[in-house]
Amino acid sequence: MNNDEYIKIKEHAKEIFSDDSHKSRVREIMKNSWDNIRNFPYRDFDDIKKWQLERISYLVDYAYKNIPLYKKKYDAVGYKVGSIKTWDDYDKLPILYKEELIAGFPNEIVKEIDDFNLSTRSSGSSGKFLTLAVSLDAIYNDTIQGYRQYYLQSGNKYTKEDMVLYIYTCPWWIENLDSEYQTSFLPTTTPVDDAVKYIKQIRPSIISTYPTYLNKLSMTGIKLSDYGVKVVIVHSEQSNAMQRDMLSKALGVPVLDEYSSEELTRIALECPNHTYHLEEDACYIEIINPETLKRCDYGKEGVVVGTNLLNTATPIIKYWQGDLAVIDEPIDCECHNNCRVLKEIKGRYMDSIKTPTGEIIPASAFMDIAYNWFLVFNIPIHGLRYQFVQENTRELNLYLIKGLFDIDLEKIKESVYLLIPKTMKLNIMIVNEFPITIGNKYRPVISKI
Ligand SMILES: [Zn+2]
Repeated sequence: MNNDEYIKIKEHAKEIFSDDSHKSRVREIMKNSWDNIRNFPYRDFDDIKKWQLERISYLVDYAYKNIPLYKKKYDAVGYKVGSIKTWDDYDKLPILYKEELIAGFPNEIVKEIDDFNLSTRSSGSSGKFLTLAVSLDAIYNDTIQGYRQYYLQSGNKYTKEDMVLYIYTCPWWIENLDSEYQTSFLPTTTPVDDAVKYIKQIRPSIISTYPTYLNKLSMTGIKLSDYGVKVVIVHSEQSNAMQRDMLSKALGVPVLDEYSSEELTRIALECPNHTYHLEEDACYIEIINPETLKRCDYGKEGVVVGTNLLNTATPIIKYWQGDLAVIDEPIDCECHNNCRVLKEIKGRYMDSIKTPTGEIIPASAFMDIAYNWFLVFNIPIHGLRYQFVQENTRELNLYLIKGLFDIDLEKIKESVYLLIPKTMKLNIMIVNEFPITIGNKYRPVISKI
């Protein structure tokens, strides 16, 4: 499927969703199950785990019986229908990698080719796209979990009369339930001054966007609190707590993170007390040791691997998400969420910087260092942009887009050498554009090793 064909499919999907029967279906689910969905994060944790295992058991059998990729993959480990009865059974399933989904496209990763009429896409490594089919039920439930997200992240200040503004690449499938749960959409290509005018006009309660776009908004000097905004949600690109705190002070509203992916949907949401609670009914997440491929205990760092609990059109089971993080057991948070807690999300394992002696320095460490430049040089967060790129273990390239500011390159160098050994060469280059962009997402640290 080439890009033009994909755009055609997306347009067709838009037509499918112009039919009001989908809103009626969501409304019906809301009527029957809203209390259940709304209260899921507050359930007893043993209850949550029991529900997850049942759902996973169903999904694995479904994938094995209907999706060629899984049939092959699970036959190879001697899988039999009905054999996921305990978490130990789940541990025995092989991990699924992005490359397998790309290679299996289109026939091996769906039951029927028409399933791609509803699909989602993300960029893969080596520039290839990953295209996944999405089931209608998944879209309905994802929509409703989205409503719940607004309640959770606004600290229950959100109401169904409130407007949510997405500044994103494409609008969500279901844009409103008529006068309730209304959303509005601006593409990320919108000039920032136009976005400011639009925000003043429609007064959204929640804005959901990329951190890069929020930086641009803050540069205009707008106080979002003056225009009725209750909370801003950032996603898709890695941001750190200090950066969000700085944006929050500039904009006059809380700025909270959504950790999500096209493959797994919502993985974890930052609550108003700055704890990341897993979205345990959207996906099941575990942390896997990248060397042994065994599940890590609570508190141990490893790679995020997850199963999408919503989608059956292209099931995503035990999928290598690739970010480094830590999971802890549920904590006594003021928001009363009982789901497990995700900590120290350190960006992609693949994008960790490797030293000549084999030491691994996570991407997040470089983001923390960069934040300190803003403090040292008193540069507003949006004034200086950077990208670290590593091509081999002997050196590290740092690209800087200066903006209006004079910077002391020696000081920057010194700070980076607090992280990397003196045996590595650091090349600093002032540029007008970053050498690597993937889709339209900004990635601060990239490893090409
Ligand atoms: Zn919380």
